[in-house]
Amino acid sequence: MNPFPSGGASGSGRGSEREPAGEFDLIERFRRRIGSNASRVSIGIGDDCAALRFPESAAPGAPELLVTTDMLMDGRHFDLRVHDPVAAGRKAMGVNLSDIAAMAGEPLAAVVSVALPRRGASELAEALMEGLWGMAREFGVELIGGDTNGWDGPLVISVTLFGQAGPRGPIRRSGARAGDRILVTGPLGGSLAGRHLEPRPRVAEAAALARGLPPSAMIDLSDGASSDLRHILKASGNLGATLDAASIPIHPDAEALARRDGRSALDHALHDGEDFELCLTAPAEAVARWRESGAGGAEAIEIGVVTEEPGVRMRLPDGRVVEVPRGGFDHLRSRAGGEPGSETESGSAHQ
Ligand code: ADP
Ligand code: MG
Repeated sequence: MNPFPSGGASGSGRGSEREPAGEFDLIERFRRRIGSNASRVSIGIGDDCAALRFPESAAPGAPELLVTTDMLMDGRHFDLRVHDPVAAGRKAMGVNLSDIAAMAGEPLAAVVSVALPRRGASELAEALMEGLWGMAREFGVELIGGDTNGWDGPLVISVTLFGQAGPRGPIRRSGARAGDRILVTGPLGGSLAGRHLEPRPRVAEAAALARGLPPSAMIDLSDGASSDLRHILKASGNLGATLDAASIPIHPDAEALARRDGRSALDHALHDGEDFELCLTAPAEAVARWRESGAGGAEAIEIGVVTEEPGVRMRLPDGRVVEVPRGGFDHLRSRAGGEPGSETESGSAHQ
């Protein structure tokens, strides 16, 4: 989730030298302060899920337990004045499923906590849970508990999802190497037109990729392709990337938004959030072998290559190579993707 300005430290023109730290600076601070017991915690703060190891004596050969949590707020991640609470419930489960997919894990069980506005609480809860349960059933997730509160504020819903790592273990953000190809599982951009409320978590696709490739690193696209790719590059030792503009799959929603707001469709594809596709890296030979094998199970579109040189660049159709700035591409100064300012009338902020 990204409730904070992503451009904080670099100056987003908000005037103060004491701007609040961005979300990722805060999380990094928490991570350093908290630390973790490495014999139990195989993945702590900083990836799409945490992973816990069971003591070998208690559970020989048990896969690691994956845990992820995401909180959604009315007026922020959806807007109940215009959105159906059933869809909000589906989204609350879907965004968590997407994080399990990002590790190529299998979702198992969830706990759900809600803070309900007192007015109309029970009808709202019914609709919300209908969406949530529906999505859970589709993905074989058991609902095993939660917490229900009422208050005078807007609806807040938090889902914590447990899963198990696949046979090859969790796929982390940190395994990319220079020379690896960068791939995405589907077209990007424009999800704020409505798709953001209908995430289709790529759980089966991730499992197929883990079996067939496997990816060296993977993340789900919640904050926007350029921002989420940067998480892989940073976690993998401050690597960089060169993207190929002509290869980036652009969703028709991005084209439609571009016609309305004057930003380019490519800008939307790079920087809009909540695509809930996967972005992954894998050595070129593995990608070639996988394609030859016809293994399938997932779409995987090659969009660029990982480089030793840090930063994200893009090769334009005319051959020029340009820097891809953090957040915005064409309109960096006036707006930056991933900031609250990028919210639209649909009322969604990025996960
Ligand atoms: P995602 O977009 O995949 O849900 P986030 O960007 O929300 O991931 O979080 C990145 C990492 O930081 C995750 O490992 C998450 O568990 C961790 N994290 C986020 N907020 C906190 C917090 N308040 N305390 C500890 N860890 C946190
Ligand atoms: Mg994620």
